[in-house]
Amino acid sequence: MITLEKITNYFDLKGINYQIHQPGWYNEKQVIVANWNNVPDKLTSWIEERFETDWDDESEECINCYQHIHTTPGYYGDLARFTFIDEGYICRDCFLKDDDNLEGFITYSDDMASANRACLPWMEDMIERSGFVLFNTEDEYESGFHPGQTDTPQKIKKWIYELHGSVPVLFMITGTGQFDISFNAYYKKED
Ligand SMILES: [Zn+2]
Repeated sequence: MITLEKITNYFDLKGINYQIHQPGWYNEKQVIVANWNNVPDKLTSWIEERFETDWDDESEECINCYQHIHTTPGYYGDLARFTFIDEGYICRDCFLKDDDNLEGFITYSDDMASANRACLPWMEDMIERSGFVLFNTEDEYESGFHPGQTDTPQKIKKWIYELHGSVPVLFMITGTGQFDISFNAYYKKED
């Protein structure tokens, strides 16, 4: 029987770099991660038929549970089931285990230039639990190449400050298209 070990022994012998990741949410088996350009085509197809594989430049491991994370969206509108925090890539399940993980997504008044990390819809409960409320209660914001899609986090942060003072703010991407994204803004209500 051809086992994963036989494949990795062969790779070791040939000096081919690879990693073995734990199964992700969409695969049941361990994933062989490599630059498949370095592997003969025939062998690659043979391996692909029998094992889970992925490319090394589209793969990361969750820093907490080591599960495989495929970092490239599969289609337009494919929202990530992972994110990254200071320590690295983290899967959705591990992220949601600790409300403190939200801290890296909050922007404060001393940082007007940046709002560079956005939350994802699956963080909504955590956002609300942490005392944030939706600012744009009617329409979602849009940023993109189409006319009128000129919303920026910096601009919206200023509007929030005008109405609510210099409160903590965060943003959530709600959708991605080929040429645009939509997003929501949240602010922390003063106690
Ligand atoms: Zn994880």
